[in-house]
Amino acid sequence: MAKITGVRCIRTRKNGTWTIVKVTTDQDGLYGIGSASDLYNPEAVVQVIEQLLAPRIVGRDAAHIEDLWQTMYTSGYWRNGALLQTAIGGIDMALWDIKGKEAGLPVYQLLGGACRSAVACYGHAGGSDIVQLKEEVHRYLEEGYTVVRAQLGGYGGGGFVPGDRAKLPDNAWRTDAVFDERAYLNAIPDMFEQLRVAFGGGIPFTHDVHEHLSPILAIQLARRLEPYGLFFLEDALPPEQIGWYRQLRQTSATPQAIGELFANPQEWTPLVAERLIDFIRVRVSKVGGISAARKIAALCEAFGVRTAWQEGGENDPVNQAAAVHLDMAVWNFGIQEINHFRPEEKAAFPGHIERRGGYLYTSERPGLGIDIDEALAASLLGEGWSRSIYHQPYTLDRKADGTLVRP
Ligand SMILES: [Mg+2]
Repeated sequence: MAKITGVRCIRTRKNGTWTIVKVTTDQDGLYGIGSASDLYNPEAVVQVIEQLLAPRIVGRDAAHIEDLWQTMYTSGYWRNGALLQTAIGGIDMALWDIKGKEAGLPVYQLLGGACRSAVACYGHAGGSDIVQLKEEVHRYLEEGYTVVRAQLGGYGGGGFVPGDRAKLPDNAWRTDAVFDERAYLNAIPDMFEQLRVAFGGGIPFTHDVHEHLSPILAIQLARRLEPYGLFFLEDALPPEQIGWYRQLRQTSATPQAIGELFANPQEWTPLVAERLIDFIRVRVSKVGGISAARKIAALCEAFGVRTAWQEGGENDPVNQAAAVHLDMAVWNFGIQEINHFRPEEKAAFPGHIERRGGYLYTSERPGLGIDIDEALAASLLGEGWSRSIYHQPYTLDRKADGTLVRP
């Protein structure tokens, strides 16, 4: 029996935007790490972990993962918010890491063992114009990726109209570029038509709408993309409008993926149980860690929905490791989103997930197989460590009349 002796957070990466949880035990050298990163509210998550949850689990048996999860889940009475679930998720991963180290087995072995020899991932191809995008797609295909995401620049790309061409009011709040959802609705099918001409019809592409469309236009987009045989269309609708997936499903066979903003089971359960989506894309740390995600995967298996855990962007190597262990053991795995870390970031996380070609591989070490070199992690903070970046709003994209566009 390993008793939990401490729970603390390690901030790393420039601006301290990665939060790694370390759970220590009374067994010599036995500890676990987990991911509780939150780009926008790191201090709040740290406070939940160190002030609310740690006092409730220190002294407890680290082996009782499910019981500890349930204890933490109800510890503040109110639950299923993003900050609490992230805090639980970080500790939960660390407990699975400890259990794997105690057993001398990789975590995926504890989850039922391998269902596959490696984990297929998809790359993010993007270009400000179709020429750049084709070059990026070509590069990913050459590298060995089997699925590629295609975007015209940033989210909503293809829908931004330069200020000098937009019909702006004379008191416009933004004059550089404004988002026009009809321009976007026309640009994306045209983009896929050109990719089909360039690469043939056999490449499974994805595209991330990032909730930029009104619901009925999202349905029109899904219908117009049917001829291009997408692997999935991501976040066609925002979480506030998931009721529209019923109409979307009735009118289009384009596969649907959603979930990166979900933290509450009431968000994904109806979509899965009514077979309205094809891929669940929650971030493992944001739903409460491995314990929560493996239950989501089991729910999805019963309804023919596959997993596509969210990664990329600001995710850290520990969350990636947790996702890939689940990918290895979950039969209804679909695809894994890829991360790209800088060499010095990888060096701070020995045993990190390796990518070769279009596949990801675990280190095969016990537990999550990944560690944190705290000295190197501290050096990643850099001299410019400040609060400025993550205190910016996620987006200030606006329409011509000034209306904010949902991120
Ligand atoms: Mg996304």
